[in-house]
Amino acid sequence: MGSAAWDDLVHHLRELEVLDGARALLGWDEQTFMPRKAAEQRGEQLGLLSRLAHERITDPRITRWLDALDDQDPVQAACRRNLGRVYERERRVPAELVDRLARAKSAGFASWLEAKERSDYSSFAPALERVLDLSRERATAIAPERHPYDVVLEESDPGTSVSSLRPLFARLRDGLVPLLEAIAAKPALESLEGRFELGGQWELSREVARALGFDFDSGRLDHSEHPFTVGLGAGDVRITTHLRPTDLLGGLGGTIHECGHALYELGLPRELGGTTVAEAASAGLHESQSRLWENLIGRSLPFCRWLSRQLPRHFPTQPVSAEQLYRAQNRVERGLCRIQADEVSYNLHIIVRFELELSLFERRLGVAELARAWADKYQQYLGVAPATDAEGVLQDAHWSDGGFGYFPSYTLGNLYAASLGAAMAAALPELWSEVEQGQFSRVLEWLRSAVHRHGHLREAPDIVRAAVGERDPVSDLLAQLWARYGALYGVAPCADATRVP
Ligand code: ZN
Repeated sequence: MGSAAWDDLVHHLRELEVLDGARALLGWDEQTFMPRKAAEQRGEQLGLLSRLAHERITDPRITRWLDALDDQDPVQAACRRNLGRVYERERRVPAELVDRLARAKSAGFASWLEAKERSDYSSFAPALERVLDLSRERATAIAPERHPYDVVLEESDPGTSVSSLRPLFARLRDGLVPLLEAIAAKPALESLEGRFELGGQWELSREVARALGFDFDSGRLDHSEHPFTVGLGAGDVRITTHLRPTDLLGGLGGTIHECGHALYELGLPRELGGTTVAEAASAGLHESQSRLWENLIGRSLPFCRWLSRQLPRHFPTQPVSAEQLYRAQNRVERGLCRIQADEVSYNLHIIVRFELELSLFERRLGVAELARAWADKYQQYLGVAPATDAEGVLQDAHWSDGGFGYFPSYTLGNLYAASLGAAMAAALPELWSEVEQGQFSRVLEWLRSAVHRHGHLREAPDIVRAAVGERDPVSDLLAQLWARYGALYGVAPCADATRVP
């Protein structure tokens, strides 16, 4: 591509990034500090910015630019792939379908809220049916020759497909079910009791985030109802957490999780802004960064040892030992609720949702049978069945507003994190002694070089493969879980399972 045309394209995309950053900032404000009465004008502001962004991404000049890109240049080749995908998606869905789907989603969300309140799935089913039909219609409009679920998967995790995920998740499920059963037969571990004053918790969250490498000159940590991270561009990433007096570890775990997302955002190759490469490669890879810090590091015994030495400064009258922290961090409890799930059962919650939405997309399951199928799978995989629709099929909002194909990214994140963690532990022999000293810089450096700096130059599965070699993520994750939980619950011969504590 001639350098003038390339400069034009980069300039065009750079302005799109600026628009998206402004949109994201308004969205962050909406969930943190915005006064309630501003909702209407915020809707207007976001609506206008979305329209401008849509005009920009469907600009007719993009076809010409795409045609002229030079595949010999890795950045231009990545740009063709990333931009081409989004451009085709936007271009092929007729405006009237976009409109029908938007209406169906907002009706779906309203119907879900009401149905959840009354715990009555049947009243939500017609709205869900409509959202599902239109989502499938949209997938067909984008790529009539492809599996419709592949099309929706690609929106969060390009580079994955039904044919790669189905066997991966089935093997993981078959490994997790017996582990969870074995743990459930043992006495429960103790939780961490007591009230921990919120002022001390905020100091602790900030201190831990700083220790992990979060730069408070490039971001903020604030409160919101549900923790989230949003990257606003170079040098600006916002994370939130929700701290509660009676749940010290849950709140801190949320902070560490979001911090993992933020470190990824801060490590992206911003010098490649305007090329589509200075972005996260996928939702699953993003989630791998948060899970690696939250689970592999944050639930380890060396981390608990370090943390137990920091606590007295913030809670001088509440001594907590490392062993107490470690046991409380790794409590496993079979439950119905995904967002409260422990590390062992979490992926089973996701696999239930993946199998069900895939069946819906393939028309092997009707919307009318969904609540029943949900309860059956919970009984089968997690050993518990919901007594009500509210604690079963209605618990998440995702499907009500058309969020199909997104759930798998959570488990993909755990799988990527397991292999990245295993490769990192092999590359850093001092890893656990450094973690015990509260030194995390080499973990961050390793992740920067293995994952962050690549941005979206390649697809997520290729980035992970290049970083870890030909590892099997299912074996890595199961080995790590058996090693830690097997030892804690006394359910596995853990002699030489892995080197991950
Ligand atoms: Zn996350």
